[in-house]
Amino acid sequence: MSDSRIAALLRAASFAAEKHRGDRRKDADASPYINHPLALANLLANEGGVDDVDVLRAALLHDTIEDTQTTDEELREHFGAAVADIVLEVTDDKKLPKEERKRLQIVHAAHASHEAKLVKLADKICNVRDILGSPPAGWPLERRRAYIDWAVEVVAGVRGVNPALEAIFDELMRHRP
Ligand code: ZN
Repeated sequence: MSDSRIAALLRAASFAAEKHRGDRRKDADASPYINHPLALANLLANEGGVDDVDVLRAALLHDTIEDTQTTDEELREHFGAAVADIVLEVTDDKKLPKEERKRLQIVHAAHASHEAKLVKLADKICNVRDILGSPPAGWPLERRRAYIDWAVEVVAGVRGVNPALEAIFDELMRHRP
């Protein structure tokens, strides 16, 4: 990877770490939130063979608008329109009720850009891995199963985007509770 692409990637990682500073995952250990976007970018690059630096930066930044004070304009200014557009595509409208947001993710998945599909697929793989390996504290079996059922529907919409990652998702499904 060229020096400028490495620098661009690290700038996104550092920006995301700063924005998610103090945020925690829902697992029993309350892991630092930044572990999650880092896991997405790592999965895409090292298991999915993705080397599009815009996709990798969008993966690092994918939850900044949804879960922190970050604005669309801020991402545009720091990372350009291509990265900001991917992040926007994978950002839920938090003004909508949760069930509606989940329904829309299924509807939108099939119509998303190639880049956004990759981030979406990586997000679902990482979340399902976490649910199987270190589930959110206090999530009963039924809730874990419901999340996985929903992830299957979202992933159905993005199929064809990266066979290696899809195979990883399918393998995870063999271990579903
Ligand atoms: Zn995420």
